[in-house]
Amino acid sequence: MKELESDSLERPVQRAEVEDPKKRWVQKMVKSARRYHKLCPYFDKKTGMCLLMVTVEGRQGRCDRDGKYDNCPVFFKFLEKVYDNYTSRRKVLPNDFQDVVNQAFLI
Ligand code: SF4
Repeated sequence: MKELESDSLERPVQRAEVEDPKKRWVQKMVKSARRYHKLCPYFDKKTGMCLLMVTVEGRQGRCDRDGKYDNCPVFFKFLEKVYDNYTSRRKVLPNDFQDVVNQAFLI
């Protein structure tokens, strides 16, 4: 009985996440990024620094993931910022990650 309760509580949350347009767009961009970048495009291989950290967190910092951006909170936050930027200006959202890759230094 307990399993049924937790199961019925979790399902609507997952569905809501999938239906959230921001999360859906972020997932789409991550999928698109994988087509172009094996490692994170904001990972400085020589120094190990994260080039996105300044934009997203307001401070410099090292990448502690060796450039693996799947599930990286900094990478996700950046994409969410891009989404908010486009939607607040009522601009059409890009369909391809390459169209937003350089916006790390503009947002
Ligand atoms: S912390 Fe995340 S966004 Fe920054 S370089 Fe590493 S994988 Fe990329």
